[in-house]
Amino acid sequence: MSQKTKDFSKWYIDTIQKADLMDYTPVRGCIAFKPDGYELWEHIHAEMDRRFKETGHRNAYFPMLIPESFFQKEKDHIEGFSPELPWVTEAAGEKLEERLALRPTSETMIGHLYSDWIKSYRDLPVLINQWANVFRWEKKTLPFIRTSEFLWQEGHTAHVDEEDARKETMQMLNIYKEVVEGLLAIPVYDGQKTPSERFAGAVDTYSIEAMMQDGKAVQAGTSHYLGTKFAEAFDIKYLTKENKHTYVHTTSWGTSTRLIGSVIMVHGDEQGLVLPPRIAPTQAVLIPVGPWKKNPAIMEKLDEIFAALKAKGIRVRLDDSDQSPGFKFNEWELKGVPVRIELGPRDLENNQALMKARDEGDKVSVPLESVVEAVEKELETMQTRLFEKAKAFRAANSHTHIDTLEQLEQHLAESEQNETIPGWILAGWCGDDACEEKVKEQTKFTTRNIPFNPPTTKTTCICCGQEAKHTVWFARAY
Ligand SMILES: [Zn+2]
Repeated sequence: MSQKTKDFSKWYIDTIQKADLMDYTPVRGCIAFKPDGYELWEHIHAEMDRRFKETGHRNAYFPMLIPESFFQKEKDHIEGFSPELPWVTEAAGEKLEERLALRPTSETMIGHLYSDWIKSYRDLPVLINQWANVFRWEKKTLPFIRTSEFLWQEGHTAHVDEEDARKETMQMLNIYKEVVEGLLAIPVYDGQKTPSERFAGAVDTYSIEAMMQDGKAVQAGTSHYLGTKFAEAFDIKYLTKENKHTYVHTTSWGTSTRLIGSVIMVHGDEQGLVLPPRIAPTQAVLIPVGPWKKNPAIMEKLDEIFAALKAKGIRVRLDDSDQSPGFKFNEWELKGVPVRIELGPRDLENNQALMKARDEGDKVSVPLESVVEAVEKELETMQTRLFEKAKAFRAANSHTHIDTLEQLEQHLAESEQNETIPGWILAGWCGDDACEEKVKEQTKFTTRNIPFNPPTTKTTCICCGQEAKHTVWFARAY
């Protein structure tokens, strides 16, 4: 059994540290993103932002501090978030009249402002997104996946009616699915959350859920239809064409830096980090080998390839440091760089270079005149290969044959005995919270979502055996 499978958390932390993505800080649960870690976020940010703007959204910025009274206005919201809120209680040496929370999300502040910004049907829809940091004081933290402070985007929109707001909720969920699958090469299941897993204050919550290599799930993005709950709490009304005062329907949707953790957990291997080419900070690295210092033609050729790759928009590095080639190979592999090109005296004589993809065992030789094309092509095929590999892994660990709690417990006992991962199970659910709770208590499996397109439909509840209202993914989750 490999180290990765045996102790996945240790493998995860080692991988992050060897790749130099982050560092711990003296503030518990708050990490520093180092440049290679932060750049992963920059690529996610850029692609999401492009898609948001393409669909008519604009960015704005709201304060990080939120008055306590704002939270009191929406009952479910305060109940959901209050245990995790850090508070500012004094400033300039004086106790504040009202405590201010470090935002866990901005529905309340934005609701307060929208009540002023929205007057008539002409002001709608309001399509705003914010890129920001948020705080949720977590007891158990894990870099990128669950931290007390994290980076995210939160979209907040207001609409004339339910139909328009629901359309928006689905549109954003689809964008998340497309970006996570296309950019991060992570296959996801889209679907609806059960009421107990809903966002605090939402009417309906939808999510995309991804399977990590230890079989656990990560909720990779959520989109909420909030109905008129926040509109009523913050008095966000508009004048209709018929001159009637009506509440707006709002939505909110978010993805965060936990996507970085998901990339690491989905694609990494025994050696460590494997990055999908589209988000890799360095997509290709060029390394001179053999007695290259005595042979200036090697660096001349590599400089030429470097310039050509750069001109094609490929993020390329040339490693001419005085470390040994073996050391460099290892270092760049740990950083998950998708493609490596080696050039030595003999290669030059044969008019070729060696190319190695991070996720493949063998090097291939490439004629020097077509190195640029070969790298471009390899970056494309590796992106697809990683997605297909993750999809195959998910298929192999998605179980659709488990229909009772006893069968699930037996499945868990068997996985433990065989040292395999339990994965996810697709099972029926009657809709009763108590059944969901019992499954969780006995197996630590929680409902992930009710998928829009389940591989099969279930007829009986996994817990009580009564008629199933929904077919649900159950899994252990981060
Ligand atoms: Zn039941």
